[in-house]
Amino acid sequence: MTAKLIDGKQIAKELRNEVAEKVAARVAAGKSVPGLATVLVGEDPASAVYVRSKQRACKRLGINGFNEPLPADISQEELEAKVVALNENPEVHGILVQLPLPKGLDEEKVLNSISLEKDVDGFHPVNIGRLAQKGRESLFVPCTPNGCIYLLEKAGATLEGANAVVLGRSNIVGMPVALLLVERDATVTICHSRTKDLASVCAQADILIAAVGRPEMVKKDWVKPGAYVIDVGINRVDDPSREKGYKLVGDVAFDEVSEVAAAITPVPGGVGPMTIAMLMNNTLRAAEIIDG
Ligand code: NDP
Repeated sequence: MTAKLIDGKQIAKELRNEVAEKVAARVAAGKSVPGLATVLVGEDPASAVYVRSKQRACKRLGINGFNEPLPADISQEELEAKVVALNENPEVHGILVQLPLPKGLDEEKVLNSISLEKDVDGFHPVNIGRLAQKGRESLFVPCTPNGCIYLLEKAGATLEGANAVVLGRSNIVGMPVALLLVERDATVTICHSRTKDLASVCAQADILIAAVGRPEMVKKDWVKPGAYVIDVGINRVDDPSREKGYKLVGDVAFDEVSEVAAAITPVPGGVGPMTIAMLMNNTLRAAEIIDG
């Protein structure tokens, strides 16, 4: 079997186009322009890159982007006061605090200070808590996990009743994606660094989501023939043949797993592009919730 490629780049582009059309339509109808504020504390280069790409995406889609870089030595009180000011700013519909925060700042308290209807990253403890409760709906779902589900649905995977295995239990990917799968009636096993005999657990999966950050850890014999495989991992490995000296690979050994899976996401070009597309979609939704 040769797996169908789940083209995250194309699917994300289509979603961004849909968002741009809806933004244009609401502005033409005299409604507010959606606005996203990104809060970047300190000068972590990776965080700065992520924030820049989020701001660029806003611009392309007709969303107002606000970015106020804050010093790494900002106090907890000052940072929370900044967030509260953004909560009160009517031009801002979504607030994204770029994580991780510099040492010494209490991440949970900062996330808690974001108003629920502006929590477009979906990391407010109440939004995450609702995701974990049956019959409750969170206003916003974290973007990368939601992107994984979106890709599975676009690829035609059946989630109801499926055996799903999630590799990784982090707050930002593994745990929320597992909760989303449960919400869609999959039977979910969550694996982590202490899981025994990972290969045979994975081999039971109709749906396999890898979010561990270990280059090409998932091998062909870990994957059930016909499984849907979503690779969230982004790992740099040395590649002297490239100008940059490295290449990006996922947590799944793509070439060999493609021989057995029904469908698979590539790295790059799979889950990665979905994260920002989902954020833009959440920002539009926030504007609809707040301003109609
Ligand atoms: P974390 O490091 O926070 O979590 C990794 C998880 O994998 C942990 O639960 C850990 O277990 C588990 N794990 C680590 N090693 C093993 C192992 N050998 N066997 C089994 N489980 C293991 O990572 P994140 O969730 O933040 O990110 C995971 C990957 O996804 C990274 O490569 C990251 O770059 C990528 N990523 C991609 C995004 C995107 O595409 N937009 C967004 C976010 C992340 P334990 O809990 O026991 O320590």
